[in-house]
Amino acid sequence: MTDCLFCRIASGEIPADIIARSDRALAFRDIEPQAPVHVLVIPIEHYDDVPSVADADPALAGEMLGLAADVARQEGVEASGHRLVANTGEEGGQSVPHAHMHVLGGRALGWPPG
Ligand code: AMP
Repeated sequence: MTDCLFCRIASGEIPADIIARSDRALAFRDIEPQAPVHVLVIPIEHYDDVPSVADADPALAGEMLGLAADVARQEGVEASGHRLVANTGEEGGQSVPHAHMHVLGGRALGWPPG
């Protein structure tokens, strides 16, 4: 058994509000949403972070981007605008060490981030 939270969500061991999936990636709602639309896109296979996915399996990184685009369409924020975020490592603010992208939208998002 793994102690990786998102691996456990991917395996179905821990419940999540899954809204979309592709062959090798999964999209579920963030448990602490920072915007009206806040969805996480993860690879089902474990990678520590998004750059590791890009290095090891560029096709999977592309599949994650494609699923994020599907989520934006499905959630109605494709035209209004939205943001993809991949917090990476300690200074990047990554708190869960399984690769994930945030899809944020549904309100005006400030820039730069804090
Ligand atoms: P990050 O800080 O970029 O690593 O993002 C991790 C995200 O995972 C945070 O936005 C958390 O709110 C979210 N999160 C943590 N636990 C869960 C969970 N069980 N289900 C859904 N989202 C979660």
